[in-house]
Amino acid sequence: MTDTVRPGDDEPAVAGGFTSTRFVLVEPSHPGNVGSAARALKTMGFARLVVVRPKVAHVHEDPEACAMASGADDVLANTHIVDSLEDALSGVHWSLALSARPREYGPPVLTPRTAAERAVPIVAGGQQEIALVFGNERVGLSNADVERCSGIVHIPANPAYSSLNLAQAVQVLAYELRMAFQAQGHAQHASPAIVDPDASPLAASEDVERMFVHLENALVSIDFLDPANPKKLMPRLRRLFARTGLSREEVHILRGIAKHILLKAHR
Ligand code: SAH
Repeated sequence: MTDTVRPGDDEPAVAGGFTSTRFVLVEPSHPGNVGSAARALKTMGFARLVVVRPKVAHVHEDPEACAMASGADDVLANTHIVDSLEDALSGVHWSLALSARPREYGPPVLTPRTAAERAVPIVAGGQQEIALVFGNERVGLSNADVERCSGIVHIPANPAYSSLNLAQAVQVLAYELRMAFQAQGHAQHASPAIVDPDASPLAASEDVERMFVHLENALVSIDFLDPANPKKLMPRLRRLFARTGLSREEVHILRGIAKHILLKAHR
């Protein structure tokens, strides 16, 4: 028997932080890890677990997953199972790819603590969603999955053996986010105005993806990008924009530029 999860309702915490954070597991192989991840979330006050194409289709009902989830059976039962990372990131404004190894063209690399601190102002208003994305136990995340995210988080583990168990990596991030959200909650208690009214809202993941398709088409139309020999141009542009963090308005501007390039090129 478990209580219903009421994320972070026991102490002051940054508004919305616990409910606007989702943990995404991409193609996990072992149901036990999914159960352990559910437990890691619940112990830290989180409740939103999303699983992309699990090896065991109904992983949230798997006996091994249930056993490892223990008292977090409610979080496990509410696992959202989706077909693609794109679906998992729908409505997400800031996403972090967890990677045990360096990537040549990925977005900027953060430590879990820095990432958690940066997450605070993003979720503070309760309007924006964030996601932490974890890879498969054996192969990790693909480069394409990493490049779709706004940042990379690397847990600075023993360089001689830096690959943590999947659920343990989830635990580290859930803990750091909890610490950051709570610290901000206490600060907010003391002096309420922490939401920056001038901060422009970030674009949602799906709008950024549509912008990249539009921009790529435009660059092909003026022969700047050769589809037969793309030379990592799009991953490099992705990295550039991930570094700045795109607002909704900036995505509109970039789409406007792409649209006008296409109009001129087809004239
Ligand atoms: N052999 C895989 C590691 C898989 S571990 C690889 O080389 O990528 C399963 C997942 O746990 C990883 O995809 C990553 O999301 C997370 N993880 C494990 N160790 C990590 C670390 N040191 N830093 C960040 N994420 C880590």
